[in-house]
Amino acid sequence: MRQVEVVIVGAGVVGASVGWHLRQLGVRDVLLLERESAVGLGSTGRATGGFRAQFGTEINVRLSLLSREKLLRFSDETGVDPGLAQRGYLFIAGSREHLAQLEAAQRIQRAAGLTEARMISASEIAQINPHVDVGGACGSAFCPSDGFIRPLEILRGYLRDANVRTGARVVGLRRGRSGRIESLRTQDEEISAGCVVDAAGAWAGEVARLAGVDVPVAPLRRQVGSTVPCDALPAEMPMTVWTEDAFHIRVRDGRVLLVWPTPGDPRDPWSTAVDPEWLAQVAAKAKARVPRLGPVAVDPARSWAGLYEMSPDKHALLGRAAECENLFLANGSSGHGVMHAPALGQLLAEIIVHGEARSLDVRALRPSRFVEGEPNVGAAEML
Ligand SMILES: Cc1cc2nc3c(=O)[nH]c(=O)nc-3n(C[C@H](O)[C@H](O)[C@H](O)COP(=O)(O)OP(=O)(O)OC[C@H]3O[C@@H](n4cnc5c(N)ncnc54)[C@H](O)[C@@H]3O)c2cc1C
Repeated sequence: MRQVEVVIVGAGVVGASVGWHLRQLGVRDVLLLERESAVGLGSTGRATGGFRAQFGTEINVRLSLLSREKLLRFSDETGVDPGLAQRGYLFIAGSREHLAQLEAAQRIQRAAGLTEARMISASEIAQINPHVDVGGACGSAFCPSDGFIRPLEILRGYLRDANVRTGARVVGLRRGRSGRIESLRTQDEEISAGCVVDAAGAWAGEVARLAGVDVPVAPLRRQVGSTVPCDALPAEMPMTVWTEDAFHIRVRDGRVLLVWPTPGDPRDPWSTAVDPEWLAQVAAKAKARVPRLGPVAVDPARSWAGLYEMSPDKHALLGRAAECENLFLANGSSGHGVMHAPALGQLLAEIIVHGEARSLDVRALRPSRFVEGEPNVGAAEML
């Protein structure tokens, strides 16, 4: 049987980052197993590529700041441009209650070091984004250093020189008498592993179950409507989010992307089909809020959906699984996995190699927090 020091299940951006950082810390024998025939076919390739540090908990702000620092050095370190474009994120508050939540979140952000985030009045919104109809807005939160990244480029950078096996679906995790995982089984081979990282995104719960470990991560469909190519809005426009219904809008590669979260389909939580009714509704929303999109059609063929990897408190699970000594978790980012992947990869590599995260206190992300009754609670529901 082949023996490997660290096996990472899932070659999305999170697994790739863990592998990269392990190699940086001197672990040479790292194997990534990916069930698809190519990398990037999970959630990573479906992300729209937003990056923000405006969050409602200290840990998420700090993860973003660490990631940002690393993205600014990414080209030098990996030879690949991660596409970091700091065009800002604008959250438009639709009610006094939401405005108060954004203010509370901003106090947390500032205390964690995000000093450039600021509140702006309803009348100032037009200076940041003159293209949106702000009728009914109570005010807004804006951070100019937030913006955009290129998920598949970050994946490509972190997979440089990596040992990846595609078409290798992990179907078994065998534990020995000590409780440790001794080997993994794919369709065609058994591999003995020193330790295993579950970086299987929305499928992380399924993978952990193979070892009898409960990882509370569930899929949630997110749909993205794309317009036809157009120049109705400038590429420099910040990501703009309406808090009342979390409708987002941004420009990417000459098209306008429209995101509006709706509940997942309870009949088929794994569905990634785009619902035509949803597409018509999101297009109507866009036209009502962004008058310039009035004549611009959506393009069903270029619209898509994918899966968020939801944890119960919408924060990542990072660290050793409580029930299994050599199973490590890097999953559950709940829709922020690309932007946080640089930080999560570094931190998990430190935990595996040094026994603890050295760059950041990540106690808030410990996988055991749910059974201990200490989930993370954010200051703003929309962040
Ligand atoms: C529509 C949409 C928009 C998004 N927008 C953003 C955004 O703007 N910014 C942001 O940061 N995040 C965004 N996200 C979330 C982001 O895509 C995820 O958080 C991130 O990609 C998670 O990365 P991952 O590596 O954990 O998961 P994945 O990329 O899904 O990788 C996990 C891999 O594990 C593989 N796998 C599963 N089971 C097995 C098995 N048994 N054996 C072997 N391999 C297995 C899968 O095939 C998959 O490739 C968005 C997601 C969606 C769906």
